[in-house]
Amino acid sequence: MKKKTIGVLGGGISALAFSAKSSHKTIIIEKENKCGGHCQTKKDKKFTYDIGGPHILFSKNKKILKYMVNLIKKNISLEKRDNKIFYKGKLLKYPFENGINNLEPKEKFHCVNDFIYNKNKQQRPKNFKDWLYYNFGNFITDEYLLPYNEKIWNTKAYKMDFDWVDGRVPISSNQELLKTAVGIPTEGYKHQLFFYYPKKGGYEEFCKALEKKCKIIKTNFKIKKIYKEKNKWYIKSNKELIKCDKIVSTIPIKDLLGYLTKVPTKVFSASKNLKSNSLIQVSLAFKSNSKIPYTAIYFPNKEFLFHRISFPHNFSKFCVPKGKVLINFEITVNKGDGIYEKSDKFLIKHCLEKIIKSKIVKNTKIIYSNVERTEYAYVVRDFNYKKNLNKCLNFLNKKGIYSLGRNAQFTYINSDEAVRRGLELANKLNVK
Ligand SMILES: Cc1cc2nc3c(=O)[nH]c(=O)nc-3n(C[C@H](O)[C@H](O)[C@H](O)COP(=O)(O)OP(=O)(O)OC[C@H]3O[C@@H](n4cnc5c(N)ncnc54)[C@H](O)[C@@H]3O)c2cc1C
Repeated sequence: MKKKTIGVLGGGISALAFSAKSSHKTIIIEKENKCGGHCQTKKDKKFTYDIGGPHILFSKNKKILKYMVNLIKKNISLEKRDNKIFYKGKLLKYPFENGINNLEPKEKFHCVNDFIYNKNKQQRPKNFKDWLYYNFGNFITDEYLLPYNEKIWNTKAYKMDFDWVDGRVPISSNQELLKTAVGIPTEGYKHQLFFYYPKKGGYEEFCKALEKKCKIIKTNFKIKKIYKEKNKWYIKSNKELIKCDKIVSTIPIKDLLGYLTKVPTKVFSASKNLKSNSLIQVSLAFKSNSKIPYTAIYFPNKEFLFHRISFPHNFSKFCVPKGKVLINFEITVNKGDGIYEKSDKFLIKHCLEKIIKSKIVKNTKIIYSNVERTEYAYVVRDFNYKKNLNKCLNFLNKKGIYSLGRNAQFTYINSDEAVRRGLELANKLNVK
């Protein structure tokens, strides 16, 4: 192998895994003042919490799970999920199918009856909404899955494809549902029932461990232009020009296309039509002597702008000082939807009012607040997704640019898969 210089655009976990494994000279180019991307953690006023949404480590891929755990093996703990769903003022066990024992008798009957004698099974699903009715029946879909999903995706479910759902949304069996209904405890989404989390430092500890294995990292690098001349790539900022042999991009496709020259109009418009959601995370802390026992609570009801709240003290006891509780509220938004444009003050007030109304917190005095905004959070799988994505990725591929990770490959993957893809690409380029 002839050693090459590889410019790695972005410094999230996929870029870090790639660079850590690469035998080439890699230069990570990150626009922020630190690496980590979605997996970043904030440490502020003795609170430690992830800012791109709460992150936990779980994986169906045992090899990657072991690799990630080993990165920080002296600083990791295994926790058990205790998630709830806020439904008509009650806290049901999560996922909904495993919490139906707490429904009213009539509701329980409708839920089981609709699931087992599901009339929607007569027609093959054509979209995500149909898929939900087809697999879960009317009650679970109407009461939880449809409103919750339309909140988190900020898109009508009939406008979404469902080819991504298999495996991500496990389906209960009739027996399991019956067991739950009669009061025999069951567990769903077993692949993430137990999760790993760093004892100290938050989720970004995985990134920090990878960073130590990387060669060159340039932060605060504001890319102006990327171009190729005589077989060499040039990445230009106002202050610096980096020359390299290859480019691996982990930055959002739309942004990358904006830096390149001679991008065909049809590729540009395909990228404009790729849909994603942004995320606002509001964090509020209160004084509290009783610790809330839950990991996260899901809110399907539209009255609450947030779809999920989580409690970092149950990820690791070191995240929140004694006598205090910190809650992260996640709100999915899009430019122009009216919520995206709301001020921090409005969002903090909303979260406070609603959390008090839900009786999850009794103390009305906030001792700490913060609002974070993530521009590209969730990829939305509409029916033109594959067509538009292929146009963009094929163009980049032909240019010789390698796309890697959640926003560059524009796909719904977790950090375990981002790491797996980073390592895989490094192995591939190591033998070239
Ligand atoms: C709300 C939410 C919750 C999640 N929860 C979990 C979870 O519990 N467990 C889990 O495993 N995964 C979770 N994920 C997924 C996980 O965050 C991602 O899969 C993973 O972080 C993707 O890493 P990446 O390197 O591909 O992308 P990113 O983290 O997006 O990294 C891209 C990097 O590129 C940088 N960048 C962007 N533009 C430029 C530019 N122009 N120039 C230079 N640099 C640039 C960014 O600053 C960033 O550092 C969650 C994601 C979200 C949104």
